Amino acid sequence: MTSYLVTGASGQLGRQAVAHLATIVDPAQIIALVRSAAAEANYAAQGIATRRGDYEDRASLVTAFAGIDRLLFISSSAIGSRISQHANVVEAAKAAGVGFIAYTSLLGAAARAMLIGQEHVATETMLANSGLPHTLVRNGWYSENLMMSLPQALATGQIFGASGDGRFSPAARADYAAAAAVILKGGHDGQILELGGDEAFTMPEFAEAVSELGGKPVSFVNIPENMLADGMVQAGLPAPVAAVLADADAKASQDLLFTQSADLSRILGRPTRSYRDMLLEAIRPTA
Ligand code: NDP
Repeated sequence: MTSYLVTGASGQLGRQAVAHLATIVDPAQIIALVRSAAAEANYAAQGIATRRGDYEDRASLVTAFAGIDRLLFISSSAIGSRISQHANVVEAAKAAGVGFIAYTSLLGAAARAMLIGQEHVATETMLANSGLPHTLVRNGWYSENLMMSLPQALATGQIFGASGDGRFSPAARADYAAAAAVILKGGHDGQILELGGDEAFTMPEFAEAVSELGGKPVSFVNIPENMLADGMVQAGLPAPVAAVLADADAKASQDLLFTQSADLSRILGRPTRSYRDMLLEAIRPTA
């Protein structure tokens, strides 16, 4: 019986990936990697087994990966610390004899050019050098990233960004999670997948949709990258994280978060969730 382990299983993507996986394989074959008693209890209530492991602690990962055939490696959220953390995951998987890794990376063009991509490129290289069979699950932006600007957009009538007329092909986190589960189950081994939503749009177009669905005029205001970073710091983000996110937004002006690949809807076997649907759902409580 094939065993599946999902890292980052307490996170938003991981929880949905485990939930989808449980609908396509026997839940008894799934193990969720967690770090806390609360996450363990949450999975116990769903009848899903857990193991403890920390990306900072290679030995804990070697123990957690024992007997695992197929691993969904969800990238760490610790931007700036991911190279050593991810090296621990890859080395532990090799030491434990894991048979396959699906790694959640970033769209190739974005990963190569953006600061936020450097750790993904390094991890892809580690995987290539490891000799372990793997699939690169290169996710585009989560639509939820864009939805975060909604309350302020509806309150002030403005959305600030540095992406100009750059196109985005974001997709719902739930769609990326479902695809990751399908890829983990099998059928896409050894592939490099570029995942994004079926619909693409620029931020001025997004602002237009917010105006229409929110019933209030909202416009996109393009500002220089340094001003965007300063605004994020004023809103409470640590300066190094703000710098990385502002860099990504500015480089998105070159269409680096746009993909015409239909890999995501092909893997899901259905269209990706429409961003206007997501907008409506998000706007309704505030409209
Ligand atoms: P979350 O922040 O919700 O989840 C992050 C997960 O990583 C949690 O399960 C967390 O565990 C786990 N984690 C963090 N540090 C460690 C560690 N040292 N050892 C083991 N596990 C750890 O993020 P999402 O689920 O929304 O996203 C998943 C990943 O996708 C992110 O980590 C990030 O790399 C990437 N991402 C991509 C975006 C995009 O637009 N393309 C947007 C946002 C994220 P714990 O609960 O114990 O803290």
